[in-house]
Amino acid sequence: AQRRYASIRNKPAKTTCGHVVGLHMNAGLMADLPSLEGSGAEGVGLFRTELQFLTRSKVPRRSELAALYARVMDAANGKRVVFRTLDIGSDKVVPFMKPTEEPNPAMGWRAIRVGLDRPGMLRMQLQALIRAADGRPLTVMFPFIAQLDEFRLARDHLLRELEREERLGRVLPSKVDIGAMLETPSIAFAPRQFFEMADFISIGGNDLKQFFFAADRENERVRRRYDTLNVSFLTFLEQIVERCTDTGTPLSYCGEDAGRPVEALCFAAIGLKALSMRPASIGPVKHMLRKSSLAEARAVIDAARASGAQSVRPAVMDWLRRRD
Ligand code: PEP
Ligand code: MG
Repeated sequence: AQRRYASIRNKPAKTTCGHVVGLHMNAGLMADLPSLEGSGAEGVGLFRTELQFLTRSKVPRRSELAALYARVMDAANGKRVVFRTLDIGSDKVVPFMKPTEEPNPAMGWRAIRVGLDRPGMLRMQLQALIRAADGRPLTVMFPFIAQLDEFRLARDHLLRELEREERLGRVLPSKVDIGAMLETPSIAFAPRQFFEMADFISIGGNDLKQFFFAADRENERVRRRYDTLNVSFLTFLEQIVERCTDTGTPLSYCGEDAGRPVEALCFAAIGLKALSMRPASIGPVKHMLRKSSLAEARAVIDAARASGAQSVRPAVMDWLRRRD
């Protein structure tokens, strides 16, 4: 697939109406990093750090983690890598944590909730990231932020670790960006201060959609029941775009749907300027964007909404078929 899109690999995802959409890749293992070059991604928009933890029987040592994150940054060769802190919970069981039985693990004790309640591991991971950066820029993103104070507390942990590393005489990152994932509807309605405090926000669409429609992303019977291009969800995303625009907070979308060309086009049309996806999706999404006008897509979306459609997909598909 990457060969098919080789001719546009080094070209921007520029639409026919002149908008440039930033395309980034999702990663989680060292082995993913070569795709950064091959896919033409601008950077790693989501580095899922839990994958390394899931495969180990013991708590990794700080020095091991620092070495690993340094190798990731080396491989990225100056391109930005957004490191998401551990998103573990009772569904993603790490071998060295006692599994806790929870009736609804996706809504349970996971991600930043674990990090804030048992900050030892979170702090160790933050120290490893600071050391790995070793004077380079560092970008950290906290998962599953559901209310303002969770972000404030997580951010404070990072600021405190930076102070501590400085006291220890270590080289600090040249710049630190601290972002939050927007994966629960609650945080979309957080006080303005949340949007101001965040250096950037990334929509975790897999989780956001599951909680928006109350439809388990792991449950085959319901997971495809609600269309991502459902008017309710799209309008909700648009409101998030507006809040971020108000505060000037950079916003991206890093759920799986960002890698689907039609969805990506609709997201861009409602104002998302950055998308992060699996590497193999960069080519097809870029191809779609480069032959599309966001203004036209937006008009089709708005007309479908006004007509009372449940999802804008049929109208968008119809427009694309007639166009291509
Ligand atoms: C998401 O929820 O969309 C996301 C990117 O995070 P994960 O899939 O790892 O939960
Ligand atoms: Mg998620």
